[in-house]
Amino acid sequence: MNHLYILNQGINDIYMSLVVDIDALKKTIMSTLGKSMGGGNKKNIVKRRRAELKEKLGDVDRNTYRRVINGMIRDAFYHLVDGKATGEEINLLESVEFGTKQWSDDSFNIMKTNSTCGNLCIYCYVSGIYNHYGRIQLKDIIKQLNDAGAKIIGVEGERMTSADRQSMLLPFETDEERASKYWGKPKMPKLFMIPTAHDIFPSNVDYIISNVKDMLTIGHSILIVSKPRLECIRKICEAIDEMDATYANQWGDEYGVQPGDYKKNVTFRFTIGSNDQTILDFWEPFAPGYAERVECLKLAMEMGYETSVSMEPFLSDPAPVIEAIDQWVSGEIWIGEMNAKPSEKVFDVEFTSSERAKIDEIATLYQFDNINRIVTELRSNQKVNWKESIIKVFLKARNKRTRKNRSSREVVPTTLLDYGE
Ligand code: SF4
Repeated sequence: MNHLYILNQGINDIYMSLVVDIDALKKTIMSTLGKSMGGGNKKNIVKRRRAELKEKLGDVDRNTYRRVINGMIRDAFYHLVDGKATGEEINLLESVEFGTKQWSDDSFNIMKTNSTCGNLCIYCYVSGIYNHYGRIQLKDIIKQLNDAGAKIIGVEGERMTSADRQSMLLPFETDEERASKYWGKPKMPKLFMIPTAHDIFPSNVDYIISNVKDMLTIGHSILIVSKPRLECIRKICEAIDEMDATYANQWGDEYGVQPGDYKKNVTFRFTIGSNDQTILDFWEPFAPGYAERVECLKLAMEMGYETSVSMEPFLSDPAPVIEAIDQWVSGEIWIGEMNAKPSEKVFDVEFTSSERAKIDEIATLYQFDNINRIVTELRSNQKVNWKESIIKVFLKARNKRTRKNRSSREVVPTTLLDYGE
């Protein structure tokens, strides 16, 4: 039998060692999410099944659950790519959650919803949503920045260097009430992703730290996702280290808290969509550069934290990026497509011809044949996981083929590798 021993590090549970039967957990997941969909609204069916699974999971540690289900999804996905997925595996893949839900149970943000994340990524769906509901006026922000020489989008001419852009003041504001949240002991510790709708900046890092410490103290696990700034990441790592040492001193004798116990419940996932700075300059104009992000990976790893990389969205061929950063990644590497295509309507600008060319390059990068090539090239890397956007591409190809096959009565091919879109 396959067992995994987990130390649950909440201060009140620090003495508990939970034993999880991995085989039983896998069976529970598959017997719930792998069931036939039958008729009805697929979205609702999946929602019901997820709620059912949550009940069945009981007090299984959420980090363990994520690791197990992610492994099952990866295996099922490769079977799908090979044309060998079972009905149960297809149902499991159909139930993969969207966006941040694929990574965590819950999320926490501290940005005012009438301001905008200071990285101002061109593909940001969050800004797009806020803009849509009139909480921010993207066109005004873009105009001000363009006029000040940053030339974000919609204008020809020489752009500011990324170093100069870093010093520009963007309308980013912390929601202080939300940032001062009181964290009570939960019925069940969760895996929280923080933040999801903005990034971590020198102006909000102290709020992030105080919330992370509170959340860890009551037993939650934290996934910190960022286009990281070295100054901020160093501060967070040092704060958790200090917390670990302090708690070990205070509670070590009584509860056996060791230095490093809280650290085990923190993962840093840094977004690195490309190793080509010119590509990052266009898509993520105010985010830290590639070199700084790699420095952050090194720092977090050297300080003993679990490190992970998100290539969602990947902005150039992922293989060379992974080759360059792999040694600094102790955990997972996630690959996914851009969720929102930049639109002239959202920014209220007319894209220049060079901007259109860059957007077209992404469309070419995301063509089925290319995605297929990328999956084939990277599938032997055990750290690589695929976001729902990539899984959907293959599910769509399969469904299309199956429908065509049903009407034409052709034999279903055993591989999807030749399925052009
Ligand atoms: S870092 Fe995330 S939230 Fe901030 S602008 Fe970029 S995509 Fe949006």
